[in-house]
Amino acid sequence: MVRVRFAPAPTGYLHLGGARTALFNWLFVKQQHGKFILRIEDTDVKRSTDESVNAILDSLKWLGISWDEGPYFQSQRTHIYQEYAKKLLQDNQAYYCYCSPSELEILRKKATGEAPGYDGRCRNLSPTQRQEYESSGRKPTIRFKSPSGLTQVNDLIRGKVSFDNALFGDFIIFKSDGMPTYNFACIIDDALMGITHVIRGEDHISNTPRQILLYQALGFKIPVFAHLPLILGLDKTPLSKRHGDVAIEHYRQEGYLPEALMNYLALLGWSTSQSQQIFSKEELLIKFSIDRVSKNPAIFDLEKLRWLNGEYIRELDIDSLTGLCWEYLNKIRNSKFEIRILKFKEIVKLFQERIKTLSDFVKQAEFFFVNSPKYHPSAVEQILMKDGVRQILEQVKDRLVQLEPFDTNSIEKTIRELADQLKIKASDIIHPLRVALTGDKVSPGLFEVVALLGKEKVQERLIKIRWENG
Ligand code: GLU
Repeated sequence: MVRVRFAPAPTGYLHLGGARTALFNWLFVKQQHGKFILRIEDTDVKRSTDESVNAILDSLKWLGISWDEGPYFQSQRTHIYQEYAKKLLQDNQAYYCYCSPSELEILRKKATGEAPGYDGRCRNLSPTQRQEYESSGRKPTIRFKSPSGLTQVNDLIRGKVSFDNALFGDFIIFKSDGMPTYNFACIIDDALMGITHVIRGEDHISNTPRQILLYQALGFKIPVFAHLPLILGLDKTPLSKRHGDVAIEHYRQEGYLPEALMNYLALLGWSTSQSQQIFSKEELLIKFSIDRVSKNPAIFDLEKLRWLNGEYIRELDIDSLTGLCWEYLNKIRNSKFEIRILKFKEIVKLFQERIKTLSDFVKQAEFFFVNSPKYHPSAVEQILMKDGVRQILEQVKDRLVQLEPFDTNSIEKTIRELADQLKIKASDIIHPLRVALTGDKVSPGLFEVVALLGKEKVQERLIKIRWENG
């Protein structure tokens, strides 16, 4: 039975990298009909928060990544880690270290490039030396006695990678505050939880030889490892806040669809031989394979994510998109607005081809839902303030006010006839009318916009324009 885990530290939100790790674990385990375990690695008591736990769970659920067991919390399992540390101490595979942080700092500065790890000076303390340290009030850490030699990591993605144990030396498994270190708690849990495959970010590969040594020391079975490639920004440096927002929650708030984001995350390091880009969840579950995960870093490209999200929006049937836009608009506006849902649907139709996210809809369609649109100064200056425009729009208003029925066809007819009578081009009416009604130079087809705004609003907007200074 295949068992994988996703093991975030609750010290912030779920970010793109974490979500990608969770997704690859999930896709892999679903295909194997195995179990996905969620484990919260909250041994860093000071930085872990309940808020962050909730945020991580919410983001996973929103993305559609479900777990079969957990969440387990490491902070509730300290007694288990202590037991295993005791066992290593008894077997003489670990020892108490009394070196203070400042002493360790001096050691670190002296250490050479080949053996930067701890030099093992507390390995063989006599009982009296220990007693002296204890009575002076020093709180010890527990260190693992690393054997000398090489440790080989056999990675599903990276192949065989060897590490010289001197790189880390006798590393700490229990901190002086009585909490286990990441490496120690992680392997105890992975072993006790029966994890068969550890799939995680490449940033952890240097931890893996330490973990292998611990598995061996405790007689546990070593799982299969797969280290996923780093995610870089367009500038080829590791993805971080500098590249913009990396929180999954941010993308939810910006009106990305979870299916599109899942699709995009799957492409961060994985591809098919045909370079297919769009995958439904069901298709991912069939086509994903660890064998086709690349060793090379993946590049996060926001424009590509936006493009993909736009493709998903265009694929939606109009009722679903209307529902999503309605919910989204209501969530971000504090006040309810009055509009019939049928009319709202007509508005959404106008934008389905033009938007890439739900927040694009709100930005582009906002003029429909407010009393007065936001006038872009450049549009006002270049188009509305031109000589003669005021008189033209006066006439447009007079005609439209009398128009019955007030529908797209008759609006178009009226405007074209007026242009003919005034011996101007239809665009000489359409452009200024668009700015007057929407505040901007671009919008969906103007005749549809006029019809959907309705006679009253059109009249009101044409009366309210301040001609003096925009
Ligand atoms: N808590 C670790 C992290 O969030 C987990 C690493 C692992 O999967 O072993 O990076």
